[in-house]
Amino acid sequence: AEVVAAAAERGVNLWRADDDHVSVACDEKTGAAELRAVQAAFGVPERDVDVESTADALPAELLRESGYLTHPVFHDHRSETAMLRYLRRLQDKDIALDRSMIPLGSCTMKLNASTEMEPITWPEFAGVHPYAPVEQAEGYLELIGTLERWLAEVTGYDAVSLQPNAGSQGEFAGLLAIRAYHRASGQDGRDVCLIPSSAHGTNAASAVMAGMRVVVVACDADGNVDLADLDAKIAKHRDALAAIMVTYPSTHGVYEESITEVCAKVHEAGGQVYVDGANLNALVGLAKPGEFGADVSHLNLHKTFCIPHGGGGPGVGPVAVRGHLAAYLPGHPLKDGSLVGPVSAAPHGSAGILPISWAYIRMMGADGLTAATEQAILSANYLARRLAPHYPVLYTGRGGLVAHECIVDLRQITKETGVTVDDVAKRLIDYGFHAPTMSFPVSGTLMIEPTESEDLGELDRFADAMIAIREEIAKVASGAYDPVDNPLRNAPHTAESVTADEWPHPYTRSEAAYPVASLREGKYWVPVRRIDQAYGDRNLVCSCPPLEAYED
Ligand SMILES: *Cc1c(COP(=O)(O)O)cnc(C)c1O
Repeated sequence: AEVVAAAAERGVNLWRADDDHVSVACDEKTGAAELRAVQAAFGVPERDVDVESTADALPAELLRESGYLTHPVFHDHRSETAMLRYLRRLQDKDIALDRSMIPLGSCTMKLNASTEMEPITWPEFAGVHPYAPVEQAEGYLELIGTLERWLAEVTGYDAVSLQPNAGSQGEFAGLLAIRAYHRASGQDGRDVCLIPSSAHGTNAASAVMAGMRVVVVACDADGNVDLADLDAKIAKHRDALAAIMVTYPSTHGVYEESITEVCAKVHEAGGQVYVDGANLNALVGLAKPGEFGADVSHLNLHKTFCIPHGGGGPGVGPVAVRGHLAAYLPGHPLKDGSLVGPVSAAPHGSAGILPISWAYIRMMGADGLTAATEQAILSANYLARRLAPHYPVLYTGRGGLVAHECIVDLRQITKETGVTVDDVAKRLIDYGFHAPTMSFPVSGTLMIEPTESEDLGELDRFADAMIAIREEIAKVASGAYDPVDNPLRNAPHTAESVTADEWPHPYTRSEAAYPVASLREGKYWVPVRRIDQAYGDRNLVCSCPPLEAYED
C-alpha cells in the first residue's frame, strides 16, 4: 500500500495484485521518467538508478531486424501537406454522411454532431485507463451514472449496464440475465428462445451463444408475429420456455399492435420477454419497452444516440432490465461476487465514446428527443408515400403507416424486367447516394430509413433519384433499353468509363453520368465499377504490392 501510494504521488498508478505484489503496465510511451518514478516509489534513491542504460536490458537476440511497415503507403506521405491530401483523396472515394443521406434501414445512420464528437478528443476523457482508480475517474463515473439514469428513464426500465460493446453483446448480456434468473428460480430447464422470422440475425446468434435453443415463430402476411403460431410454439415448449426475443417496432418497419399481447402470452407461460431495442429511434419519448411488457432490452447508442458507426468502429449496446433482473447485469471483470460474469474486458465497455450520447441527450432534452422521434417517423412515412406509386411498400400498419423505416419491394419488378435490388443499389451510386439496406429482412427488397437528420430537400432528392431509376427500369421493360447493356446493369459508372475514347453502350454518356440535372451541381464520382460480389467474396484479391516486391 505504501509503494502504491508513493507511486500515485509521483503520478503513476501501480496495480496492487495482492499484499506482496504490485503490477505495472507499460506502453510505447513509457520512458525514463516513468521508470524513475516507479523505482523511487520503491525507495530506490535517484542516484542509484541508471535509467538511460535500461534500453539495453532487451536481449540483443530479441531486437527486431526485419523490416516493418514496408507498404509504400507508410512512406509516401512525408509532409503534413501530403498527408492532408492523402486523407482528402481517401475521403473523396467515399459516400459518407458528409455527402448524402445513408438510408440504411435498421442502421439509423443519423447526424453525429460536432459538438457531441469533440469531447471524446479531450485527454480528460481519452486518456483515462479503464482500470484507473475510481477516485481519479469521478467525472467519468458521474457521466456514466447520469447516462444510465437517463437511459433507464427513456426506456422505462429500472437498471442499465453500459458494459456491452455492441447491440449483439447487449443481447448476449440480456439473455445471460434471463438464464441466471431462471436458474435462481429453480427453472434451469428453461432454455428455449422464441424468435420471430423477421428478427435481426444477431438475435439467434446471441441466443445460441447464451446456451439456448432457438425456435422460430412465423410471421403472417402483414409481417406481424403470427399469433396462432406463437400459441402453438408456446404450447409445445411451455415448460422449457426461457424467453422470446422480439423487435419493436419490428424490422419490417411496423409497430406491431399485438406487442403487449405477445409479451403477456410469453409471461403467462413463465418465459421472459426480450425486446430488441435497436429500433428505439421510433420510440424515444413516445413509448417505453419497460412499460409495455418487456423485461429486458438492449439499446444501440451507435444508432439512436448518435455515436458514429459503420466500418466497425466502437459501439455501445447498453442492456436495460426491470428490477427482477438487475442483480444479473454484467459483473466487473476484476471483482468477484457478481452473479453473471462480465461481457467485456473493461467494466464500462467503450466508455471513451459515451460523452457523445451524453451530449446528445443533454442538448436535445426530453422535448427534443420526442421531436426527433416524431420527425424520424414522419420522414419515413413521407418517403413511403412518395415511393409507393412507383415501388410497392411491403409492410404497413394501421392506416397504411410505417414506423421509422420502410421496405420497398422489388421482387415483382425483378420478375418482370430482370432488374434486381443490386442494380438499383448500384445505380443509386451514380445518383450520389449510398444504397439502402439490401435484401434484409426480406430478400429482393430495399429497406429505407431516413432518420430525423435529413431535411425535406434531401428526402426529395432521394425520392427523385428512386423515381428516376424506376423510369429507367420501365425503359428496360418496354425495350427502350437493352435488357443487359443498360445504365442499371452497368452501374456504377466511373469518370474513366464515361470519358473513355470508346463508348460501346447503346445509351449515352450523359444518361450514364448525369441522369438528373441536379447532379451537374455536385457529382460524386465512384472510384470503382461494379465487381462480381459473389466472386469477390470467394476470391481474395490483395491490393498490396505484388508478391515479387517482397522477394529479397
Ligand atoms: C443493429 C441491430 C442489432 C445488432 O446491433 P449491433 O450493434 O450491430 O451488434 C440487433 N437487432 C437489430 C434490429 C438491429 O438493427
